[in-house]
Amino acid sequence: MNPLISLFLGTLYVYNEIQKTKEPPVYYTERIVGGFNGITIPPFGIFIKESERENQMLLDHEIVHWNQYQREGLFNFLKNYYAEHRENGYDNNSYEIEARLLSGEKIQCLKNYTNCIKSGTALTAHNSNFRHLQ
Ligand SMILES: [Zn+2]
Repeated sequence: MNPLISLFLGTLYVYNEIQKTKEPPVYYTERIVGGFNGITIPPFGIFIKESERENQMLLDHEIVHWNQYQREGLFNFLKNYYAEHRENGYDNNSYEIEARLLSGEKIQCLKNYTNCIKSGTALTAHNSNFRHLQ
């Protein structure tokens, strides 16, 4: 293997081993691709839209994803999350439903989340532009 690739993968491995034992770093950013309000990218951290800085429920939702990553490990979490996404889509992805449930979202928004966020029915956030790249 190319030594630079080996160095990169080795560094990522060590970084992941450290990160998965820690609380997630949280970064605030002007916008997030796809119209999301927040996103968890293991092993790097949680990214939240600047306008949602005071939104504790959104942060709680993303922390559930961080805990899922810690529970399953980087590779298994990514593999299982995307398998769920392919099979059930975003709204019915069991990882997303767990995050909605544990962050205190309304029962009627657990599986109808996109519509709830767009219409302002959800407790987590209101964003009429939510998931515009789906
Ligand atoms: Zn989520």
